[in-house]
Amino acid sequence: QFDRTPLIAGNWKMNMDHQQGVALLQKLAWTLQDAKHDFGRVEVAVFPPFTDIRSVQTIVDGDDLKVVYGGQDLSDQDSGAYTGDISGEFLNKLGCTYVLVGHSERRTIHGESDQQCLAKIQAAFRHDLVPVLCVGEGLESRKAGEHVNFTLAQLRGSLEGLAAEEVGNVVVAYEPVWAIGTGEVAGPEDAQEMADAIRKDLAEQYGQETADKVRVLYGGSVKSGNVGAILKGKDVDGALVGGASLDPEEFANIAKFEQ
Ligand code: PEP
Repeated sequence: QFDRTPLIAGNWKMNMDHQQGVALLQKLAWTLQDAKHDFGRVEVAVFPPFTDIRSVQTIVDGDDLKVVYGGQDLSDQDSGAYTGDISGEFLNKLGCTYVLVGHSERRTIHGESDQQCLAKIQAAFRHDLVPVLCVGEGLESRKAGEHVNFTLAQLRGSLEGLAAEEVGNVVVAYEPVWAIGTGEVAGPEDAQEMADAIRKDLAEQYGQETADKVRVLYGGSVKSGNVGAILKGKDVDGALVGGASLDPEEFANIAKFEQ
C-alpha cells in the first residue's frame, strides 16, 4: 500500500485566546499520552489562531509533544506593506509544519479565489510549509448533482502550473460547505466518492505516483461517532475537524478512530 499516514487535523478557527489554547493543547496532549497514541501511525495537528502559535510552540518544544501545528492562512507575499497579513516565513520560524489554504470561510468571507490559493500554496512551499488546500461544493451544486465538477474545478484552479513533485506535497481537504458546522455530515460513501474523484483527477494531471502520495482529508461535522465510518473509505486519509477539535477528549477520540 502507499505510505499515506492518516492526518487528524483540528481547525480552532477564531476560538481560543493564547491562554485557552495552551490549556486545550495540554489537555489534548495528556489525553493522547494516556491513551498511548501512536503518532507514527496517525498524525495529529492543530491549527490555532495566529496569536496562539508562539505559545503553542513553547508548549510543544518544552514538553516535547508529538502534536504538530500550523496556521489557518498565510499571505501570498513574504514581507512588506501588507497590513494585517502573516507571512509563511513567520509561521515557519514558529515551528509550523502545515498551513491551511482556501478554507471555505476564507473563500466566502474574504472572497479568496483559486488563483489566490495557488499563490498561497507557492508561498507555503517557499517557506517549507505543507499546504492543506481546502475544496468543496455548496448546497446548490450538491443539489444540482454538480458537486464533483465544482470541486475538481477548484482543485485544478488552485494547483494550476505546479510541478508534480510540488503537488505530491499538498494535502487536500474535501469539505462540502453545507456540512461545515451544520451537523450535516456527508455520508462515508460521499466522502469516498469525492476522494476517489480527486485522486483520479490528480493522476490524470500529474501521474499516478503523485496522486498516490497526496493525502485527501474529509471535513464537515466530523465527530468521534462518525469518523470511523468516514475513514474506512480507501481514498480518505484523515479528517479536518472544526467544532469537535475544541473539546480535547472528543478530538483525542477522533484521533483514535481505529479503535
Ligand atoms: C472546518 O471548519 O474545517 C470544519 C470541518 O468544521 P466542522 O467540523 O465544525 O464542521
